[in-house]
Amino acid sequence: MNDLANKRVLVAGGAGFIGSHLVDALTAAGAVPVVIDNFHTGDATLVDHLDDLEVLEHDIIRPIPDSLGAVDLIYNLACPAAPLHYQADPLRTWRTSVYGTDNLVEYARKHGARFVQSSTSEVYGDPLISPQREDYTGNVSMHGIRACYDEGKRAAETLLMDMIRTYDLDIRIARLFNTYGPRMALNDGRVVPNFVRQALAGEPLTVYGHGQQTRCFCYVADTVEALMRLGGRDGLQGLVVNIGSDVEQTVYSLAEAVAELLEVPLRTEECPMPQDDPQLRRPDLTRARERLDWRATTPLRTGLARVVEHFRGNAAIQTRQPA
Ligand code: NAD
Ligand code: UDP
Repeated sequence: MNDLANKRVLVAGGAGFIGSHLVDALTAAGAVPVVIDNFHTGDATLVDHLDDLEVLEHDIIRPIPDSLGAVDLIYNLACPAAPLHYQADPLRTWRTSVYGTDNLVEYARKHGARFVQSSTSEVYGDPLISPQREDYTGNVSMHGIRACYDEGKRAAETLLMDMIRTYDLDIRIARLFNTYGPRMALNDGRVVPNFVRQALAGEPLTVYGHGQQTRCFCYVADTVEALMRLGGRDGLQGLVVNIGSDVEQTVYSLAEAVAELLEVPLRTEECPMPQDDPQLRRPDLTRARERLDWRATTPLRTGLARVVEHFRGNAAIQTRQPA
């Protein structure tokens, strides 16, 4: 499969932030996406502009119903991703990551489908080396409040590697780093929506700790382009690849960038640093460049401007409460 046109593509988590953008991109490429989602942190309104889209309300913690029929490719994006969301019900997060991935990959096995997993930079935990290369095994606090997500994603990667060894499945793993863009929920607690919302409301920006921890922010269209290449190209079985921006910045400098964009004076409020918050994060993107011929291209200012436009726009999809 070197082209996604006319392929039937199952997108688990397709009514979420990244998933809904992926569904748009698949549709534009002539594929036939099918969405599975339980609307836990997503919302059907994020894909309701696509008239013919098949959407199945289903929790991947339970086996995928055979009535869904044959598929050529499965993307697994079904998992709460914001710390506020994944920590609200940690057992559900863990089960979604581990049992959910197991159910989806079983479905891939039955139908001979290719499989793309959205893993995360969180598999590196609070890294002791920077930048993080794919062969770094990480520094994860396995009992901490982030572990339901971090260790859930790590266990899912282990499961997928064993599925390749046991059944020779065509599985690829994307380790996504911080992604932002329109359709994030205004109230998901992540730093980009928080800072934009606070700056728009004239409130101080809540900086956790002294704001010296770093992240790299990748615009969602760039992330989706990488996922399209990862799912669409032949010859990538077993590939594990970092996907993100490698422009590293402190949280404080993000606050400065948001204030500058919105032309408001920077006012910050220092809040406690959350437990186990990674202090550094930057991907080594050599593999993404070599194997996918991909790099993130959207400047932060351009991407942030689109987030602002989104939050000023459609009020109905701005906030989402985990169901
Ligand atoms: P999101 O919360 O907006 O999307 C997740 C979607 O999955 C939602 O529509 C939700 O309703 C659905 N879902 C959750 N649990 C489910 C279940 N048990 N059964 C069926 N559907 C379920 O999050 P997002 O930011 O779009 O993240 C998508 C994927 O990308 C996740 O797997 C996440 O781990 C990964 N990721 C995201 C980022 C990021 O910065 N956004 C970074 C690293 C990895
Ligand atoms: N953060 C912050 N203020 C906020 C929200 C988050 O300073 O209002 C910090 C958080 O402590 C972390 C970084 O911003 O160091 C990114 O947090 P986010 O929740 O967006 O994603 P994470 O990378 O932690 O999953």
